[in-house]
Amino acid sequence: MASDRAGVVVVGAGIAGVACAGELRRAGVPVEIRERGRVAGGRMASKRFDGRPADLGAAYLTVSDPDFAEVVHGWQAAGLAREWTDTFVAYDNGGRREAPGPMRWAAPGGLRSLVEHLAWDLTVVVDRLVLGVEPGPTVDGRRCAAVVLAMPGPQAALLLAPALAAATKVVERQRWAPTLSAVLRFPARRWADFRGAFVNDHPLLSLVCDDGDRRGDGAPVLVAHTTPGFAAGHLAQPTGAAPAVEAAVRDLLALPERAVHVHVHRWTYASPSAGADSGFHLDDDGIGLAGDAFGEPRVQTAWRSGRDLGRALARRLA
Ligand SMILES: Cc1cc2nc3c(=O)[nH]c(=O)nc-3n(C[C@H](O)[C@H](O)[C@H](O)COP(=O)(O)OP(=O)(O)OC[C@H]3O[C@@H](n4cnc5c(N)ncnc54)[C@H](O)[C@@H]3O)c2cc1C
Repeated sequence: MASDRAGVVVVGAGIAGVACAGELRRAGVPVEIRERGRVAGGRMASKRFDGRPADLGAAYLTVSDPDFAEVVHGWQAAGLAREWTDTFVAYDNGGRREAPGPMRWAAPGGLRSLVEHLAWDLTVVVDRLVLGVEPGPTVDGRRCAAVVLAMPGPQAALLLAPALAAATKVVERQRWAPTLSAVLRFPARRWADFRGAFVNDHPLLSLVCDDGDRRGDGAPVLVAHTTPGFAAGHLAQPTGAAPAVEAAVRDLLALPERAVHVHVHRWTYASPSAGADSGFHLDDDGIGLAGDAFGEPRVQTAWRSGRDLGRALARRLA
């Protein structure tokens, strides 16, 4: 972007920000994404262990929106996404049962690869922590045509000047819960096939996925997500939770061996709970908000929220 004055600044290179920027770019509006992390993806996060990516944010995608289905089929045609399973198991009331559900999609290269694919022709400035948004609008002191904050509400709240009352009100209504994700690497696959397991009524675990099955390489890797309550007690020092998470997973799946490595990631803002009235926010100050808080907390919601905000902004700026 030659000058901030003419363009839109999208803060956050998760799927909502990338979908929004893509829509603006297609409409001919200059747009730049600024991302505080080293890579795009946000909570569609894949981290490499000895060169192999494991998904430690979103566990999979589900698809019900026909427009999002087109995007997913584009990823599939590019060899980036594949149908994984429509059947998990559920642990509850002391038992284990099959839990049929919607088709869940996975990415052999990790879910982050899907966001990177959508962003390939966009300007994404990484390692760029945005510090403040003021009326104008200005981002870190420079004027632009509009600003999109595509991130969890509490992160957006840190950026919004108090004078930006409409957007501040929206983010303050949001309620978010934390999760810890643990990547457990084992010496061998010593568990019965299960793909993914919902763990109900457990004090520590909420979901366990077979990452080798999900990614299709059969690696002996499990990824466990904890309950918000357990995560809340370990946000200051998430690595300290590793022994308890490993013990809970081994107990659940009756695993004979210890993991050779456990990595714990903290998601302070993993999942929003309060529903919103609309699919995004765009106010007269030129501030837009998008993300999964504007509907069911899912990848599809974040994508649609960003896409729809991009369309609305393109119409306004045309
Ligand atoms: C553990 C976990 C499991 C999940 N499981 C599923 C699932 O199975 N299926 C499903 O559909 N969804 C799942 N989700 C939800 C899904 O990941 C999200 O709905 C989706 O990825 C949200 O995308 P987003 O673009 O709205 O936000 P994010 O992906 O959070 O993107 C926000 C971006 O903004 C950046 N940012 C924040 N502040 C700043 C700043 N000041 N300056 C610059 N950049 C900034 C962040 O670094 C981040 O990259 C899961 C989420 C988690 C955490």
